[in-house]
Amino acid sequence: MGSLSKKLYLLRRFGNSLFTYNCASCGKAVRGKCLCAECSKKLLPAKVQGEAFSSAYCYDGPAKEVMLCYKFGDNYEFCRDTLCDWLLEGMAKLSADDIDAVVPVPSYKRKTTRLSELTKGFALLAELPCEPKLLRKIRETRKQHNIPYEERFSNLSGAFEADPSVRGKTVLLIDDIYTTGSTVSECSKALLEKGAEKVLVLTVLKTEKKK
Ligand SMILES: [Zn+2]
Repeated sequence: MGSLSKKLYLLRRFGNSLFTYNCASCGKAVRGKCLCAECSKKLLPAKVQGEAFSSAYCYDGPAKEVMLCYKFGDNYEFCRDTLCDWLLEGMAKLSADDIDAVVPVPSYKRKTTRLSELTKGFALLAELPCEPKLLRKIRETRKQHNIPYEERFSNLSGAFEADPSVRGKTVLLIDDIYTTGSTVSECSKALLEKGAEKVLVLTVLKTEKKK
């Protein structure tokens, strides 16, 4: 990843920061951010999950609203800057020394997705190589949130295939939301099968059971 693309990326981020948006959670006008100060205070940091898995925040409240806005809204480009920052915050909780490649969870049909764009932006900021080609989705699967928990693992079984060039690499796998872990565990399995040295998982948000 060249320094020119990083400069362009930072320039675009700076451009975005000059606009006034509506807070993704309460709708109040806010400049240069997608959450207002009050809503930002309500973010719940996700618990640390050991050295190989991390998320920035819980999938709840304002964090959930930003994610929904990013996944389904029109103003997603702006939310992306915030989500990139959150990924950096999540990464700070990982013991991530020698990452060779950052890889997003792939989609079956589309090469470029909102997640792959997010991963690219994050990798630029973190100064790590983004290598989406190391992992492919080789068949269509049903949407995970539409099916019962027990079927989520079988639904994804064998759906991903890693490139042999992943051999010996330490991979940082990126997803937007961690729910049951079935998606990232299938992806990790595929990467390890092709000889990845180690797979670390970083998601922006994580669903945590409420007490
Ligand atoms: Zn707000």
